[in-house]
Amino acid sequence: MLNDTLYIVVPCYNEQEVLPMTNKRLTVLLDDLVAREKVSGNSRILYVDDGSTDDTWNVVTNAASTSQRVAALKLTVNSGHQNALLAGLEAALPHAHIMVTIDADLQDDCGVIERMIDCYEQGNDVVFGVRRARKTDSWFKRVTARMFYRLMHRLDVRSAPNHADFRLMSGRAVAQLMRYRERNLFLRGIVTLMGFNSACVYYDRSARMAGKSKYPLGKMVSFAVDGITSFSIRPVRMVFTLGVIFLFIALCMLAYALIAHFTHRAVSGWASIMLSMWFIGGCVLMGLGVVGEYIGKIYIEVKDRPRYHVGATVNLNNEKTSTKNSTI
Ligand code: UDP
Ligand code: MG
Repeated sequence: MLNDTLYIVVPCYNEQEVLPMTNKRLTVLLDDLVAREKVSGNSRILYVDDGSTDDTWNVVTNAASTSQRVAALKLTVNSGHQNALLAGLEAALPHAHIMVTIDADLQDDCGVIERMIDCYEQGNDVVFGVRRARKTDSWFKRVTARMFYRLMHRLDVRSAPNHADFRLMSGRAVAQLMRYRERNLFLRGIVTLMGFNSACVYYDRSARMAGKSKYPLGKMVSFAVDGITSFSIRPVRMVFTLGVIFLFIALCMLAYALIAHFTHRAVSGWASIMLSMWFIGGCVLMGLGVVGEYIGKIYIEVKDRPRYHVGATVNLNNEKTSTKNSTI
């Protein structure tokens, strides 16, 4: 018998359509785990409303008013998926021994949470949920995701492939995670970096139950760029290497020009000059862009601003959070 407290952290951004279904499934699951004494009766489902502009907060507070097992916190503005997860983990940490993060759309199979807990009992501090197949994702999402994981691997960023943010973490692991104070967070990379004992649990990813994806192409690209640039400085080094190669090419060209001069051969034409000018100009700009990306990151980190602001909490008896907006 295990009497550890489990908090299931669910980030929600404009998820009013899917939340009633999600809440039903998670409540049944948690009640069952508690009834079978897999986890303690203090366990909760913790919804983090990431500054939604729809009815999400009402749906969540209604759920919390009917069940003590449901807790919620609201971020004042949309702070992004990763920050919403962190806010939830930080709020859960004083209360929970085990924390599981899962998306509100339940594309990840919450049925494997029990297997995750089994892995935790066997001494793993981190258990990754790994998608077996991505049949329900669009062709585009599958291909770009595969390219992204491959690139990350080549850039030495170690993250479990096909693992999104469906993951179990022990209190110990979350406490360590909180020591990473950076703003540009790429949780799945950092968690791997921490080096705790970990295991993988495999599941089939299903389609979104309702509502639309909150990760349009633009957000996906910026997430990928963040993931790469906050873990690896290889792109900057690659730009440097490119510069060295270009210098070498320029030297060869100089040698050629000298030979051409002394052998009185015709000077090469206009096209080659224009071409190389544009080509090198493009490379320089690209290099500046890469360097700029890192400088931008430094600028953001140096300001050391808070990552999110909690506006209200429900069913979370944490002395530190304001009671003004709390209903309990
Ligand atoms: N999400 C969030 N803040 C955001 C964007 C997304 O909290 O700014 C949440 C969203 O509500 C969902 C999870 O992050 O629970 C994953 O988003 P989604 O399912 O839309 O992404 P996809 O599965 O399409 O990659
Ligand atoms: Mg989803």
